[in-house]
Amino acid sequence: MRHITEISSKVEPVTFVEDELELSFRYWYGEHYGRFYAELRDNRRILGMRCEKCGSVLLPPRPYCGFCHAPLRTWVELSDKGAVDTFSIVHTPNAKELIETPYACAMIKLDGCDVPLYHLLGEVEFKDILTGMRVTAVWEEVRKGALRDIRYFRPSEQRSIRSD
Ligand SMILES: [Zn+2]
Repeated sequence: MRHITEISSKVEPVTFVEDELELSFRYWYGEHYGRFYAELRDNRRILGMRCEKCGSVLLPPRPYCGFCHAPLRTWVELSDKGAVDTFSIVHTPNAKELIETPYACAMIKLDGCDVPLYHLLGEVEFKDILTGMRVTAVWEEVRKGALRDIRYFRPSEQRSIRSD
């Protein structure tokens, strides 16, 4: 019988194992996300929360203010209209992404909200997308209680904002 140090010095250690793991699970949204997604699905309403300490309006709803950490208790209905804060045109497909490339996505500041919402842009030519462009939510007819209950945001005004 050989000593263990003699054996281990002659083999390469296993440092990486590649495998696939299929998981089926149900995710509990909790109080805040549960109400947020139910309102999207049932009433086409976007709910946020107002901080009574610093006055910020946050999206999505959460138990504590992301700016001053005060507990949040005040629900507010947000507009489904806003302005493009930043945007990107995605050309590289993601293996898990169901959206056909290229597509436009944006951080959208809904009117009266202090936190931008990440979502898709639609019904617009990429060359016409600008920061500050006014957009309106386009809702799915059949909603499931998910952020994709909003299909995308489209320009509020159909005319181009560009001057060229
Ligand atoms: Zn606050």
